[in-house]
Amino acid sequence: MVVIEGNKVESTRPFAPAKSRFCIFENVYFSRPDSIIGGRSVYETRRQIGVELAREAPVEADLVCPVPDSGTPAAIGYSQESGIPYAMGIIRNQYMGRTFIEPTDHIRNMGVRLKLNVNRALIKGKRVILVDDSVVRGTTSRKIKDMILEAGAAEVHFRIASPPTAWPCFYGVDTPERSKLLAATMSEDEMRDWIGVDSLKFVSLDGLYRAAGEAAGRDMANPRFCDACFSGDYPVAPSDKIEEGFEMKAAE
Ligand code: SF4
Repeated sequence: MVVIEGNKVESTRPFAPAKSRFCIFENVYFSRPDSIIGGRSVYETRRQIGVELAREAPVEADLVCPVPDSGTPAAIGYSQESGIPYAMGIIRNQYMGRTFIEPTDHIRNMGVRLKLNVNRALIKGKRVILVDDSVVRGTTSRKIKDMILEAGAAEVHFRIASPPTAWPCFYGVDTPERSKLLAATMSEDEMRDWIGVDSLKFVSLDGLYRAAGEAAGRDMANPRFCDACFSGDYPVAPSDKIEEGFEMKAAE
């Protein structure tokens, strides 16, 4: 805090020093893949998430396809680890914006159709693993599944490069309220059935931390990152939201 009084300037730090807990979702989605976070390549972290996913959630299939663009490095990692060929089953229209922050379901759903096209010649008759960065409301995943099945895929398996998003972010990311998050109201199997795919698996929180360079996974007592949208463990309690009635996760 800098206080300027007359011609006197005083600079103080009014808060006790706190350990940094950087947003782990930067590693999954927000940052450009050519960024370096904490000395580590975001591309390599995302590729490694795919490796972790292939180890944690293997499945027999013919192709590994990313949901472009943020699912791409994780799909490459999944393919390298599993030995299942990587292919561009979905092609992105370069001229559309992101759908994550679109305000209404209608606009978001329209956006998916305009933004992504299925590579029919490749998909027909194939068992396809789709690698995406996250499932928030699930509506986008459902649209993508419809498009892949309409193109004649024999099976659709979703592999998600982040754990289930079950808690809202109060630190600046425009996530919906908790009741609108699919993972807040459904189990993994219920989400699989609601989206309508043959299987749905998320990378574990430990797997995500390993991919981000923490060999032992998440240190439960002293986590390196903010991961509140997955764990419900908010590094700073959202006091204004609690006053409005938001219920924090009960201590385990
Ligand atoms: S809750 Fe934490 S990890 Fe999740 S998006 Fe917000 S800052 Fe990032």
